[in-house]
Amino acid sequence: DDVIRAEALGKTYAEGKLHTPVFDGLELSVRAGETVAILGASGAGKSTLLHLLGGLDTPTAGEVYVAGQKMSALSDAARGQLRNRALGFVYQFHHLLPEFTALENVMMPVMLGGIDTQEAASRGKALLEAVGLGHRLEHKPGELSGGERQRAAVARALVNRPACVLGDEPTGNLDEKTAATVFELMLELNRAQRTSLVMVTHDRRLARRLGRVMELRQGQLWELQPHEV
Ligand code: ADP
Ligand code: ADP
Repeated sequence: DDVIRAEALGKTYAEGKLHTPVFDGLELSVRAGETVAILGASGAGKSTLLHLLGGLDTPTAGEVYVAGQKMSALSDAARGQLRNRALGFVYQFHHLLPEFTALENVMMPVMLGGIDTQEAASRGKALLEAVGLGHRLEHKPGELSGGERQRAAVARALVNRPACVLGDEPTGNLDEKTAATVFELMLELNRAQRTSLVMVTHDRRLARRLGRVMELRQGQLWELQPHEV
């Protein structure tokens, strides 16, 4: 019951330096409820890997399976639906839509799944309350603090009860104290929903809190033992 599986995954950017692969033959399986940190130097390919796992970019070799479905075998529309249903995304920057309220932003993935407004609103409110933003439902992103915006982004990522959340430095843009709060919140909600988490970070202290720690180095994923993190 892998929620995400990468098989012999490779990526070479056509316009990249000498067409050197970012990685090749990469293998990764993430089981239900598992939490995985991905460490690696700048330029190692962490964002590239996350984009491939999330179906935002296509590999040049190998396959990605999300919730048992082979991504390359799906139409663009079906892949989009699977991403929306099975995955949640949290980035360094919140990517909330500025014209919409916190609640509308969080409702959006539910509405995109074809679920009616009332149900979407009720789920959105419940999650905004869970991230401590019950009093900010009608605020637009510009009226929220950095920490609040990122908490709203976490709520949006979880609102469809995805199998896995993919995080690309989800707390990288916050001060240390706010980052710690948002990170603990993500762990708590992931545990409560039994959602897996794959998180790119350069913060070893955060990485240590996750179930597995991998390092992307020389085009391969290496599993680190606790004493190596
Ligand atoms: P990380 O997230 O670990 O910093 P990236 O995945 O962003 O690494 O980048 C890995 C490598 O791929 C780098 O050498 C980078 O320059 C290159 N790269 C990333 N995106 C592109 C792109 N769109 N076109 C060409 N090369 C890219
Ligand atoms: P956090 O610890 O969540 O980052 P802050 O202490 O930065 O929160 O902000 C406290 C309150 O001030 C927030 O609830 C928010 O409503 C308001 N606030 C903070 N930054 C801004 C901003 N740039 N624009 C509007 N309101 C803000």
